[in-house]
Amino acid sequence: MTPNTQLGPDPVVNDAEIAAMVTGRDGLRVLLQPQVDLLTGRIVSAEALARWQHPRLGTIMPAAFIPAVNRLGLDKALFERVCLRVIDALLTMRRAGVAVPVAINAPATTLSDQRSVEFLLDRVYAAELPPSLVRVELTEDQPIRDLDVLRASLLRLEDAGCEVSLDDFGTGYASLKLLSAIPLSEVKIDQYFVTRMRRSAVAFEVLRSAAELATRLGWRVVAEGVENVADIPALRAAGCRYGQGFSLGRPMPLDELMVRLRTQRDGGEPLSAPASYASSWIEAFDGGTKDAEPGQAGRRMATL
Ligand code: C2E
Ligand code: MG
Ligand code: MG
Repeated sequence: MTPNTQLGPDPVVNDAEIAAMVTGRDGLRVLLQPQVDLLTGRIVSAEALARWQHPRLGTIMPAAFIPAVNRLGLDKALFERVCLRVIDALLTMRRAGVAVPVAINAPATTLSDQRSVEFLLDRVYAAELPPSLVRVELTEDQPIRDLDVLRASLLRLEDAGCEVSLDDFGTGYASLKLLSAIPLSEVKIDQYFVTRMRRSAVAFEVLRSAAELATRLGWRVVAEGVENVADIPALRAAGCRYGQGFSLGRPMPLDELMVRLRTQRDGGEPLSAPASYASSWIEAFDGGTKDAEPGQAGRRMATL
């Protein structure tokens, strides 16, 4: 067994263990992170995020195993496993009357394979779920080998009613050519810009311009990595209608997400925040104009 250097110095975790996790029955866990409408505070969708529950090492994060999964050619197997979990989660949410669309991450190699797309669609139809409840997020961790092939796969998804989202926009491989070639419903602006926009006018302008381009093309704009509710007015001013981040909800088990969705359905506060959190949330909305120009404070800093 080859030691896997991607996972750090621990020689216990190796390629064979990764393969067993992806293809076996145990070990893979899928958490859901809410995506929130920054105008209303409502949870509008969720993203499925993989975790490896290792018997000795505990929870292993995707950054530590996704590169190895891709290197071993197991990306399609992982995709199928996550698809099945997401479909189960959607069925559970639907039975409870609280279903929101759930996004599944996948690199271009996976989504370029027509078999992966057909696998997902077959399972969605078999479960009698509306395809609009399933999204795919094209992760930007790999260059795109054949744009025409990827485009054909994504068009198939779009024709079937599944939405396509572009992940990590601004820091990955996406070119303007890619943006104009593939069918998209959403872009997720990378956390990099969200984190820096308060102290950097350049970061804010890049974020704003990216959001404007996406909006002009009719796509939803999601800000990733929203760690501070005080940033919400600035994000809205920059054209990000939606947000995802620890301040809005961490990746959580399905049960926890459903508690929030039920509360929301019944007219309560879906973010289930403590009073101080809730008040800063409300201030963030009420104080929209006061905080709307983060670039003002950051204009002294000319670079990212
Ligand atoms: P991503 O798709 O961009 O997912 C967002 C990542 O940001 C997640 O990390 C999430 O936990 C983290 N995050 C969310 N809000 C915040 C925040 O406010 N602050 C900070 N610092 N981080 C935040 P995670 O779960 O570790 O996933 C990392 C990446 O691994 C994902 O980035 C995605 O590219 C990949 N990934 C996760 N699950 C899967 C999967 O099932 N399949 C594939 N192919 N890739 C996956
Ligand atoms: Mg993602
Ligand atoms: Mg992302």
